[in-house]
Amino acid sequence: MVDLLFKGDPIGAIEGVLFDKDGTLSHSEPHLLNLAEARINSAIELWVAGGRPESVCPPLRENLKRAFGVMPNGLDPAGTLAVASRHDNLTSMATVFCLMECSWPAAHQMATDSFNRVDRALTQAPAIINPLLPGSASLIQQLFTTGIKLAVISNDTEQGIQRFLEGHGLCQSFQTCWSAEHFPAKPNPEAVAQLCNKLDLDPKVCALIGDAETDLQMAAASGIGLVIGYTGGWTSKPHLPSAALLIDDWNELSIQVGT
Ligand SMILES: [Mg+2]
Repeated sequence: MVDLLFKGDPIGAIEGVLFDKDGTLSHSEPHLLNLAEARINSAIELWVAGGRPESVCPPLRENLKRAFGVMPNGLDPAGTLAVASRHDNLTSMATVFCLMECSWPAAHQMATDSFNRVDRALTQAPAIINPLLPGSASLIQQLFTTGIKLAVISNDTEQGIQRFLEGHGLCQSFQTCWSAEHFPAKPNPEAVAQLCNKLDLDPKVCALIGDAETDLQMAAASGIGLVIGYTGGWTSKPHLPSAALLIDDWNELSIQVGT
């Protein structure tokens, strides 16, 4: 029996923990802001190259920033880029083109070309491994050494998740993951059910820790025993009303092995 403790007080016995990645384990905000800027710049270049009016470039840039959740002081932790999949972000960009009087086929093609151009540039650059958020490595080590089963549930690709875990020497600690390429992807509660099944655990004996309200609603709907919101990963703290417990610092959590 292993109890999870919050500031030293037991909050529940667990056998598994499901972690979100971006904004929960991974300090993703600086990288995501750079990604948003690269995608927006690429979109505007393609817009102009297609002979469309340059006069609308300033409002186009502003609307794309809003669509991705880029704010003056950082990234909206509940915005499209922070929470949703690449596919959903591409659809958001295409929708902004439609608002600028573009047909859907042309808008979708331009968004696809824009994303692909940025992807190609990223594959040619040295791979970026986002830093771990402070204190997460220590908790993962504690959980792993006491035999708690760990998994990542993320809207990143399988390759992106593996690269992150490998980059931090965490592959051995995590039994498995659930990526955007799995079906159904999160935030479908069935994603949690199937991931718990892969871990051979009942959701009731698992904690899910995430920084997005959609993660926590999914966890609650799938019967996860401990639904924990993490708010320490962003400049603007996420609003997480579905959390049974909120933590702002990984060092607030620890474990106690029962006797
Ligand atoms: Mg997240």
